[in-house]
This record gives sequence, structure tokens and C-alpha cells, in this order.
Amino acid sequence: MTDLRIITTTGMDSVLDDATIEAFKSSLRGELLKPGDVVYEEARRIWNGMIDKRPALIARCVGVADVIASVNFAREHELLMAVRGGGHNVAGTAVADGGLVIDLSPMKGIRVDLSAQTVRAEGGVTLGELDHETQAYGLATPLGVVSETGIAGLTLNGGLGWLRRKYGLSSDNLVSADVVTADGRFLTASETENPDLFWGIRGGGGNFGIATSFEYRLYPVGPEVMVCFVLYPGERAKEVLGFCDEYVAQAPEEVSPLAFLGRVPEVELFPEEWHGKPYAAILALYAGELEEGARVLQPLRDLGDPIADLSSPMPYVEAQKILDEDYPNGWHYYWKSQNVNSLGDEVAERLMAHAEDAPSDHSTIDVWYQGGAMGRVGAEETAFGDRGVPYLLGIEANWEEPQEDETNVAWARNCVADMRRFSDGGNYLNFPGFLEEGQDLIRDAYGENYERLVALKNEYDPTNLFRMNQNIKPPS
Ligand SMILES: Cc1cc2nc3c(=O)[nH]c(=O)nc-3n(C[C@H](O)[C@H](O)[C@H](O)COP(=O)(O)OP(=O)(O)OC[C@H]3O[C@@H](n4cnc5c(N)ncnc54)[C@H](O)[C@@H]3O)c2cc1C
Repeated sequence: MTDLRIITTTGMDSVLDDATIEAFKSSLRGELLKPGDVVYEEARRIWNGMIDKRPALIARCVGVADVIASVNFAREHELLMAVRGGGHNVAGTAVADGGLVIDLSPMKGIRVDLSAQTVRAEGGVTLGELDHETQAYGLATPLGVVSETGIAGLTLNGGLGWLRRKYGLSSDNLVSADVVTADGRFLTASETENPDLFWGIRGGGGNFGIATSFEYRLYPVGPEVMVCFVLYPGERAKEVLGFCDEYVAQAPEEVSPLAFLGRVPEVELFPEEWHGKPYAAILALYAGELEEGARVLQPLRDLGDPIADLSSPMPYVEAQKILDEDYPNGWHYYWKSQNVNSLGDEVAERLMAHAEDAPSDHSTIDVWYQGGAMGRVGAEETAFGDRGVPYLLGIEANWEEPQEDETNVAWARNCVADMRRFSDGGNYLNFPGFLEEGQDLIRDAYGENYERLVALKNEYDPTNLFRMNQNIKPPS
């Protein structure tokens, strides 16, 4: 038996002896993994293959008591700590080199309350799992657009998906959350209980504690919905983005389109003569009655001469998976984002030029059309901040080969740097790159809410135990 090497919250090397680890292990109902254990290698890996961290310990929590014990252990030993929900944050903050990973992925409880039209889900649930349960009753809450991602990171930082213009962000639909704070307390956060904490967790990420469960409002959606998925030649990007913009201005809020620019993948679904050539695509679903959906979405399909039109009615749970296969586990990913104020010709031209230049055929530039219900929530009502900006750009570098890391990361950075001149600031912390801009990125995202978030951090986590995240630093 040898002591376990760890990294402390001050970044120093230290050790934990066997007796200390054994005592911690016996305080948990779930497993405690360390290097050398059979499943350790798998358990330390997350979705983004660029992240290759070796935690000292991984606590696979199966309930709230495990989470409380893990937080107390990390605090008492000043151990660097990370929190894992669905393990899909591109920055890789779900794992810490030499630290303790508090892994909520075994916590999968979900319960729909039909009379209240709400659902409660534990911190390890994925979007697909939650949709599966709520759709059994023909209900849904607004989530993101890839079913394998976690509800925890999504909700704590906002949550943009196909229902955003109709029902708002995921975080706008939180009724309450159970939270374990840095001092090991278990609190409920809602409009009536700990309302300051409730304000902070709706956009402020994992800064204030570990959310062991989330309670969301539900709405009738599906079970079948109409989906528009049409690709036009990339040389028509200006026309496509411009048309979609005009369309959104008058479209019912049941539609929340996503436009994206890229190069046609070499798959059978698309005509061979288009493989590798640039496209401008529109993807949207209609969150309402099928026939009406087909009618409302038709104009997006009528621009003429598409490369492919894959639009069709489908079950809502399938629509929520439509992009899943574009994001395999273990590939390399680096994503940035930027709010922009207009989608004029120059913006569209620059976006298409960047999309054409991408080193990888799998990379895309996404345009999230905002507004509607998500735009009606005031900037100060939740930590998320300003909703007034009409478009969010998501710049996604997605590639397979590790030797191509540098060129792909450089492409995304160059693209976002170029697009900043079309922005008055603001970005989305669920697409944060590797957080290399530090506090500048965080301040830019929160705008006027930043100082209030710092004060809240000081109240709930003055020693910054929860630091492996889009970190709001307490005053030093
Ligand atoms: C393929 C893909 C598609 C995506 N699509 C969308 C989309 O459509 N819309 C959108 O808005 N976003 C989208 N995202 C972004 C995604 O929502 C974020 O990456 C989110 O952080 C993922 O949550 P997670 O629980 O899987 O992350 P994790 O990596 O497990 O966690 C990320 C961070 O969240 C915090 N955290 C996690 N769990 C908890 C908890 N229980 N309590 C407290 N803090 C916690 C921690 O700080 C952790 O470092 C997408 C991401 C991917 C990879």
C-alpha cells in the first residue's frame, strides 16, 4: 500500500494515506475508484477525446448522502474537486487532474408528477433519458438538441433547444433544485426557498453547489412533431440566413430554427456530387400540431433547388436525437460562441468563408435564432443575463485525429476573433472553448449580473471549492 498523490485546491502536490481513503470509501454507498482499478480508465474519460486527465479519486455517487460525504471530504482535505453530470462539457471541467471527481452519472432517478405537470430528475440524467420518461405522458420540458448530453450542465448554464422560443431556456423552466453547498448543507432552491441561490443556479453554472436533482415544468409536446431539415448550396448562405431571419420575425414561437454552415459529409444520405462541398442548412421543429407544423415550416423548404430535403414528421424523442450521430464519443472537439446583433450580408459572407476554410469536414458554424419566450425573461431575473441579442453563433471544431488538434483549435479561435467585430459582447458558457480567456469570458457572458454573482459566490463558496467550472471567483 502506498499513499495516493493528490493536487490540493492551492495547486500543491500532497498525499492521502490508505486509512483516510478507506474511511472515505466506507462512507459511500457508491463506488470509489482510484488509478489501477479495473474501471478507472473508462470512468476518467469524458465525451471530448482531447481531455486526458487523471483524477486521484472518482466517487460514483448513487444518492445525496454520497454527494454530501464527497463534498465534505474534498473540503476537509483541501482536495481539488470536479463535478460530473453528463460529462459533455467541451472544456472538460467534469474531471480534475489529481483531484476528486464527484460523479453523479449513476444518479438516474426521474419522476413525472402529472397533477403538477412537473418532472424531477437527478443530476446524472441525460436529455434522452428525461425525454423518454416525459414523452410517455406526451409531455416535455425545454432541453438541448443532442440526447446524450447531461441535463445538469445544460440547465445550470442556460439550456438552448428546439422549444426555446415557445417555452424558454431549460433554466427558465426550473421550479426548484436540491443543492449540496460547499459547507455540506443540503438546500432546496426555488422562488420561495433560498431565492438568491435559485437566481444564481439559473445560469451561474456549478459555482454555488452540486445540484442533486432538478424539478422542471412540463408542456404537452408531440408525441409526433414536424421537422424541417433542408440543406442548400453554401454559395446561397446569404440568401438562406437572410430568409430564415425574416421568417423568424413573423413565425409562431412554436418554431425555433437553427441554421448551420459546413461541408456536406460523405454519407449516403446526401447526393455524392455534393460530398465535401459547402452547404447552408436549416433545421427546425414545430412544437405543435402536425399538419399545422408542415404548413408553417414549408417556406423554409421552398427556397428552391436544395442539396437535400430530409424534412419529415417524426416522434419528438427521435427529433431530439437527430444530431446525435454527428458527435461520437472520443473525437476531438473545441467550441466557441459569440452573440451577434445582425445577420447582414457581410456577417453571412464571413461565416460562410470560415465554414469553407474549416480544416475538418465535420466542423460547423451554427446560428441560433433567439427571441420569443427566452427573450422575454429580463436580464436581471436570472443569472443567465441579457436575452436581448437576436443571434448566437456556435463555432464547432469537430475532428477525429489528435495530430490535427492545433489547426482545428486555431480555426475556431480565428473565426470567433473575426466575428467579434459584429458583436456588442456576450457569449454562451455552455460553448466555452477551454476557458482560456479566464474572467474576461465569464464577465462577457454575465454582463451586469457579474458583480451580483461574485457576491453570491462569496456567500455560498468563499473558498472556491467549486472551481472546476466556468468559474466566478470570490473576492480575494
Ligand atoms: C454534442 C453536444 C451537443 C450540445 N447541444 C447543446 C444544445 O443543444 N443546447 C445547449 O444549450 N447546450 C448544448 N451543449 C452544451 C452542453 O449543454 C454543455 O456542454 C453542458 O455543460 C453539458 O452538461 P453535462 O452535465 O453533460 O456536463 P459535465 O461535463 O458533466 O459538467 C459540466 C460542468 O457542469 C457542472 N456540473 C455538472 N453537473 C453538475 C451538478 N449536478 N451540480 C452542479 N454542477 C454540475 C460542473 O461545473 C461541470 O464541470 C451541447 C454539448 C455537446 C457536447
